[in-house]
Amino acid sequence: MPKYVYFFGGGKADGNESMKNLLGGKGANLAEMAGHPDLKLPVPPGFTITTEVCTYYYDNKRTYPKELKAQVDTALTKVERLMGKKFGDARNPLLVSVRSGARRSMPGMMDTVLNIGLNDTTIEGLIAKTNNPRFAYDAYRRLIMMYADVVMEKAEGLEPHGGRGIRKTLDEHMDSIKKQKGYENDTDLTADDLREIVSDFKRIVKEVLGRPFPEDPRDQLWGGIGAVFMSWNGKRAVEYRRIEKIPDEWGTAVNVQSMVFGNMGEDSATGVAFTRNPGNGENQFYGEYLTNAQGEDVVAGTRTPAPINDYSRNEQSKHLPTLQERMPKIYKQLFDIQKRLEKHYKDMQDIEFTIENDVLYMLQCRVGKRNGVAAVRMATEMFRERLIDVETALMRVGPNQLVELLLPMIDPNDELVQSPIAKGLPAGPGGAKGRAVFTSEAAVEWASRGEQVILVREETSPEDVDGMHKSQAILTSKGGMTSHAALVARGWGKCCVVGCSDIEVGPNSLTTKSGVVINEGDWITLNGTRGLVYQGELSLVDVDLEHNESYKDLMKLCDRLRVLKIRTNADTPKDTQKALQFGAEGIGLFRTEHMFYGEGSEKPLFLLRKMIMSRTADERKAVLNELSLFVKKDMKATMEVLNGLPITVRLLDPPLHEFVPHSEDKIEAMAEELHIDIADVKKRGDSLKENNPMLGHRGVRLGVTYPEISEMQIRAILEAAGELIKEGKKAFPEIMIPVTCAVNELGHQRRIVDKVYKEVCQRLGLRKIPFLYGTMIEIPRATLTANKMAEVAEFFSFGTNDLTQMGFGFSRDDIGSFLPDYLTAKVLPADPFQTIDLEGIGELIKIGIERGRSTRPGLKVGICGEHGGDADSVKFCHRIAMNYVSCSPFRVPIARLAAAQAVAEERVAQKNAVKKTAKKPVKAKAVSKVAPRKAAAKVVPKKAAAKTAPKKASKKAAPKKAPKAAPKKSTKKSTKKR
Ligand code: PEP
Ligand code: MG
Repeated sequence: MPKYVYFFGGGKADGNESMKNLLGGKGANLAEMAGHPDLKLPVPPGFTITTEVCTYYYDNKRTYPKELKAQVDTALTKVERLMGKKFGDARNPLLVSVRSGARRSMPGMMDTVLNIGLNDTTIEGLIAKTNNPRFAYDAYRRLIMMYADVVMEKAEGLEPHGGRGIRKTLDEHMDSIKKQKGYENDTDLTADDLREIVSDFKRIVKEVLGRPFPEDPRDQLWGGIGAVFMSWNGKRAVEYRRIEKIPDEWGTAVNVQSMVFGNMGEDSATGVAFTRNPGNGENQFYGEYLTNAQGEDVVAGTRTPAPINDYSRNEQSKHLPTLQERMPKIYKQLFDIQKRLEKHYKDMQDIEFTIENDVLYMLQCRVGKRNGVAAVRMATEMFRERLIDVETALMRVGPNQLVELLLPMIDPNDELVQSPIAKGLPAGPGGAKGRAVFTSEAAVEWASRGEQVILVREETSPEDVDGMHKSQAILTSKGGMTSHAALVARGWGKCCVVGCSDIEVGPNSLTTKSGVVINEGDWITLNGTRGLVYQGELSLVDVDLEHNESYKDLMKLCDRLRVLKIRTNADTPKDTQKALQFGAEGIGLFRTEHMFYGEGSEKPLFLLRKMIMSRTADERKAVLNELSLFVKKDMKATMEVLNGLPITVRLLDPPLHEFVPHSEDKIEAMAEELHIDIADVKKRGDSLKENNPMLGHRGVRLGVTYPEISEMQIRAILEAAGELIKEGKKAFPEIMIPVTCAVNELGHQRRIVDKVYKEVCQRLGLRKIPFLYGTMIEIPRATLTANKMAEVAEFFSFGTNDLTQMGFGFSRDDIGSFLPDYLTAKVLPADPFQTIDLEGIGELIKIGIERGRSTRPGLKVGICGEHGGDADSVKFCHRIAMNYVSCSPFRVPIARLAAAQAVAEERVAQKNAVKKTAKKPVKAKAVSKVAPRKAAAKVVPKKAAAKTAPKKASKKAAPKKAPKAAPKKSTKKSTKKR
């Protein structure tokens, strides 16, 4: 017979902690606490109806399996026996609670009914037993209120009467009685008052809902069970599942448990506690309690909870007596239990307890939620305490939790008491505050007066870069996660909210949908981690990494495990320095074009423009010689900071038209310099225009048309390295050719390298300048012909921004107009520009590596697209045996963690496979599926990779490196791509 009901209590349990899928998290933990030989904690007895019943319920027109009723009756009888009470008995009634419990906690999303079993008859028994009529009537009025709300209204799908739910109507009635009697608190209500309220409640319920509150305890019980199943598909729960990606088909379990009462008088209490402080991770027992109260009172916030011990005191509760002071024996028992629980579960537990007439009961335990700071501290300390192994410690910290440690954030206490005025996409994490400005010029101007500003635009363009740079954060009403604003801000580690359609941006102000107007100079605060906009100035808190020992410990553990190297995308000495502090092991992408943007770019940009406008090769060469000095100086400075760590320098990538002057004064200056007229300058600029610049004259194609441009850059790179070597320093450049699709392009450019190399060695008197020659792989054809490409290339760096663009045929600049629809309609599981699409682009990468290494087994392979800082993508890069990932400086710690987690995941899979093998002999094939990276073929076989591929790609935006700035007058479209 199928088993649908699992009993727990009296030191025994049918289930255990490992049965979360069937019993839900709550049910499994209740069983574990009650029945595990190491625990056998005082858990009020009860039973769990499995999640399978929920599935059955929905599959069978809201009916139950025929065996269920008998199984519930049997379990209820067991509970009655243990409690020495009887459900529905007039003299000694058993009361039960009915609660939901999904596989993964969905706090507050589903419903609960307490005190089931009370009616006009059983209440007399309760009064006689407890000798406490006030308590009994209080329990009764709570039951009517919850039952009417959860079972009779919500589960029936009734629209709240007059826009107000029945709970509110009943609450208001109780308040009016309190007012009438001149009472302040619920506790002032007497037994007589409550008896009256009970009868009023029943009358109101019948009037409003058209049905009486059911007196029969069994009707109440089944009503409660059905309501919990119904709440699985309630609006809140469905929405929560969508956000948290919890599958609809999991279903919820139902826990029926005998009631214990924290509201039986002053020797009773109820509380919530954590085995460690979830706010900062300190290894201190932390919690709150209320005497003479039921669980819902702690949550309702109507009374200030008292601290359980001195450690838990806060501003509001510092004057209240602790549980340790009031009930020292119980506190000691609770303290011991929490220690045992943490040791048993090997993780911080969030526990709920109730004390009834000086007897302690454990109502719930589950793994406690924690913020990033606490997660890092707990993981490293538990590892040091030998509570957990290194793999577990690493898996305990979510890569995105690390972001919280790296960026300032809004003080959580401030955020708690403020409501956002608008919500957009969380493009750049962290918090920021500043005065709203609406143009780049205003941002620069306000900032020059020492003011903090937030730039608010409909969307940004390269022309806004100065203002963006000077701003604390960026807010746009349009654009998606890959918009210009998002890319640039994330690259700088700047807080950013994009696509905030709740606001309308005017020339000097913004207006929210609800009518809030923010004018230039008004303070606003952004939460870039959640995409929220607040009016006014909220305080920010900084996290000090230098002194964060837990962070340093975590990074040490990461470095112990990881195989992948972590590099950074950087193109200034300052960014490089920052990345090295974060643990970068070299530069994976140095974009040469950066020097033509932003601060200090005037002269080199002018020379570049002059070169572009040159008519003859000789004219061009003359300018290039001049330009070469700037390029060399720039690279040398960064190479010096790297002190011999590799630096992958990419030759010029954007189409030349991006650099053509557009403003009249610049055009005039150019005409004067070149001794030609203005119309001629314009004509030459126009001749470079392309219909589709992303697929146009860019990357290596420029080098083929204008070999002298490549030559200048190659010379600058090799001279920079050679000069450093001559100065007794170290340098190791890797020359990288962008946007290649054919081996002959690589051969063409290699010949230039060879020629220049000889000349430079000769000129500097050096026998050798160490360097590598390689290519970006960012065109599908390049992946398919990788065996050929590797004949010339000594390394590959996957440019997954362009590879995704060209693989999908999605313009990376225009995806914002349709991607949200794709995600909503579940056409795609995630934004492929944020997390590698394993099915398509991932396959192309695997093919590229496989074919490349078939020609050159030692081929060095990395990634430098945005995905290099996305945790799921980094894990994929590990599995397919890349050598390194490269990401923006701020993502380096996240990539270090993700790379280590990839190894930890493999080790755990191996351990599990060994365990399975110990149980039954396993075929060789099964073991190879979890074979470690090194033992596996260079590229993990398709099947094995699929086995370990994450089910869902992370939705969160990952701050990665974007250009520091963009050419002032470039076409927005083509510049945005970087
Ligand atoms: C890429 O295409 O992934 C890349 C890193 O180059 P860019 O973003 O500069 O085109
Ligand atoms: Mg590219």
